[in-house]
Amino acid sequence: MKLHEIFNEGFWWKLEDTTTLYHGTSSAFLNDIKTDGLLPPKDEFEKYAEDIANFYLNALNITGELRNEILNEVQERSVKYRTRHGKEYSSVIYFTPRFEQAASYAKSYAEHGGEISYDIWDLVKVYSGLTPPKRFVGNKPIVLTCEIPTNWLITPQPLPALVSRLSDIFNKNYENNNPKDEYKNFDEFVEDSTAFEVRVKNIVTPEMIKNITYVPPKRINEDLISPETYKLQQKYDEFNRKFFNNELPKIPIRFAKLKTVGGEVKYTVVRPAGWVAPNPTLVRIGKVDKYAGASVKNMTMTISSMYMRDEESLDKILLHEMIHTYMVVIGKFNESHGSNFIKVAKDISRKVGFEIPLVDNVSNLVLNDKTTKLVGGILLKKNNGYSVALINPNNLKDSLNNINERWAYFIKNNYLEQVTVFTINSPIWTQIGVKFPIQRKPINKLDFYILNIEGAIEDLQKNGNILLIINKDIK
Ligand SMILES: [Zn+2]
Repeated sequence: MKLHEIFNEGFWWKLEDTTTLYHGTSSAFLNDIKTDGLLPPKDEFEKYAEDIANFYLNALNITGELRNEILNEVQERSVKYRTRHGKEYSSVIYFTPRFEQAASYAKSYAEHGGEISYDIWDLVKVYSGLTPPKRFVGNKPIVLTCEIPTNWLITPQPLPALVSRLSDIFNKNYENNNPKDEYKNFDEFVEDSTAFEVRVKNIVTPEMIKNITYVPPKRINEDLISPETYKLQQKYDEFNRKFFNNELPKIPIRFAKLKTVGGEVKYTVVRPAGWVAPNPTLVRIGKVDKYAGASVKNMTMTISSMYMRDEESLDKILLHEMIHTYMVVIGKFNESHGSNFIKVAKDISRKVGFEIPLVDNVSNLVLNDKTTKLVGGILLKKNNGYSVALINPNNLKDSLNNINERWAYFIKNNYLEQVTVFTINSPIWTQIGVKFPIQRKPINKLDFYILNIEGAIEDLQKNGNILLIINKDIK
């Protein structure tokens, strides 16, 4: 290890003998990693996989034959999972040139509780036909930074080739700060080469690990859209069935940070051989489409994740873009927001019960996002951070006794450092109120979400109305 690596992560890339890794396996192994280093005890792996499977199976109430079948498959897979490259390794590493990138990838797995957890989640889904809940709500990625000798790594392709390809893609897409393309090539690359999977063939001791950090995965997460609550593809399919008679094509849909529009549909027009452009005058007066007789390929849809939105706002944008798609399907290439578009939009608005916007402009949505709302909640302070449950502020005041009773126990036994009951009306907490559910459950059934939103605690200390504080000093 070299000193400058510790101070400047950027250097590692140029060095041959050591490599910085960003680890994203699972928080379940965090304690093992802290005490034993990388490569947590491998006999725990099967147990871990089984626990995950049981969580999903219980949540879906799956019993009997199907349950056994899934558990058997999980067992088989968890062995394969460890031995994918011919030897037994229990760590999977995200191998990326930048911390932010590792965090982004870690996020997608972390929502399910790690890569293997995602694998099992998917397996249960396929076998049962049901969608299991996420194991963790909120963001729970672990990104672990360490430097280890490069020849300790096992990669699916030779390391230098991976490094140069990754650098290449990274420099092209990341540095030019083009939000639309930022992840595109990375995603493709990861898919076709599993470049982010690296196995470690020796123990990395705890001393070699520089730090273990919970990372709020910024580049994807800062859009504040919670993927738990909004599934683009699923919604697209649902709306296609309900409002478009399934006539829209299956196209790739994704989130990206579009600043000026809520969404966009892109495609390539294919003119058949011998195609003749229609009479321009007829095109201008709208009698004939400018690409009449042509077809399209490579259609994609992008929905902006730039601004904070609630579900209905996203529905509106998605439907708006789907109407654009529909216009293309029926050959109205230069429709834009013309009379045909408006007619369909009105029609669907009636059915769906809210107004689909007729323009792509997002300014009113941004303004909407700036209005604040009073939220109330219970904040738990632990030795490693905060978690929070949001509750309707009107219900909070009557619950203070119950809250005190319940959490005094946890404080007394040192499970928690402090419990704070509060209300607050601020932009940050309004956003948190969109991200996390406002719960209507008995106090002892509340779900707590890890609070890793920047500035939230400071904002609460400054602008919050504190109803109750429970800690060791207060008897
Ligand atoms: Zn539009």
